[in-house]
Amino acid sequence: MIGIDEKLEPILAEVLRRNAGELEFHQAVMEVFESLGRVIAKKPHYADHALIERLCEPERQIIFRVPWVDDAGQVQINRGFRVQFNSALGPYKGGLRFHPSVNLGIIKFLGFEQTFKNALTGLPIGGGKGGSDFNPRGRSEGEIMRFCQSFMTELQRHLGEYTDVPAGDIGVGGREIGYLFGQFKRLTNRYEAGVLTGKGLVYGGSRARTEATGFGATYFVSSMLATRSADFEGRKCVVSGSGNVAIYTIEKIRQFGGIVIACSDSNGYVVDENGIDMELLKEIKEVRRERISQYVDLRGKGARYIEGGSIWDVPCEVAMPSATQNELTGKDAAALVKNGVLAVGEGANMPCTPDAVRVFQNAGVLFGPGKAANAGGVATSALEMQQNASRDSWSFEKTEERLAEIMRNIHDNCAETAADYGAPGDYVLGANIAGFERVAAAMTAFGVI
Ligand code: GLU
Repeated sequence: MIGIDEKLEPILAEVLRRNAGELEFHQAVMEVFESLGRVIAKKPHYADHALIERLCEPERQIIFRVPWVDDAGQVQINRGFRVQFNSALGPYKGGLRFHPSVNLGIIKFLGFEQTFKNALTGLPIGGGKGGSDFNPRGRSEGEIMRFCQSFMTELQRHLGEYTDVPAGDIGVGGREIGYLFGQFKRLTNRYEAGVLTGKGLVYGGSRARTEATGFGATYFVSSMLATRSADFEGRKCVVSGSGNVAIYTIEKIRQFGGIVIACSDSNGYVVDENGIDMELLKEIKEVRRERISQYVDLRGKGARYIEGGSIWDVPCEVAMPSATQNELTGKDAAALVKNGVLAVGEGANMPCTPDAVRVFQNAGVLFGPGKAANAGGVATSALEMQQNASRDSWSFEKTEERLAEIMRNIHDNCAETAADYGAPGDYVLGANIAGFERVAAAMTAFGVI
């Protein structure tokens, strides 16, 4: 096993053995282990009391049946998950993903990443993740609602503002959070606003939460660029995906003077040299709930749609993969480097394969890993919890200012940690170590639990 300290090798071997076949989880764990050798060389006590083994074993894993009735009157069955990974720093916190690819291994990888990401925010939130293999595509409003109600009917017994606080992720946006919150409130007879985040503004949501992941990722990249005395002004950027993260990344890049010339969905990508029209994209994706191939017809001249292919062949100076895990391979990374990419910031969770990360780092490209770069979403969820706890509601400006400050702190913390551990500029190492140290210190204080 390349790059892994020999003390950690047997621990990793055991994690791989007891979680057989969960490839994304293995990938996420291996990436963190590659960074931990330097920590235990400096602070050997972190390898004591099976702390690292405990960190890799979720505190609790819940799998449940989700039966619901479709519009044709047929009973459908899906599988629901909630992995309560680590509560050393606060209640379990992390999104719910509704996508046909969801399985236990994917939720575990996401929960593991979330634990470190949430630690990096500096806010009191532990790590968790959940979801279902339910495919929302093509489902009616009524079907989505009944599915959410059935899902929450089981999940509610495991939640609470001091226990576990879900939010959205792929396939779960404002609409779904509304149905989930409504059902939670009905079943428990409690208006417990802090039990879910990403809520609508009229029922306890936070301003800037919708924008937060994309805005935050752009702030992070802006801080990375600043270390090389650069900024977004006039730069061509490519943002993959066209969901919540991509849309608000495009908006913030435009505010910073950059120009996003391409975005994508799972069928293909759009190139618009005049700059992607974020309002139009929002209309297609969030109102019409359609595919981005429609963009070209609605936008008219200048835009083209490419079915299949790789969006990473489009030359750009800043790339922000914001679709899903492992969407950007070593080959894609090589194409980006050849075309002169300066910085890459992960808006999605683990969108770059390990090969791709190596290609970027070897080429000296600024690389911001998701657990740092996309932490703005969950950080603003924690701000939503703060507002709920104090029965307050902050202005957009105040909330965004807090978000920007949190992202700057995450950036600086990762950069300083990397430098302290002898790898200046290595944000992967910095994020893994800074996140780990916070969780590990709390776990150590608690003893063996
Ligand atoms: N799903 C988002 C993430 O990956 C947000 C989670 C949250 O707000 O709890 O961090």
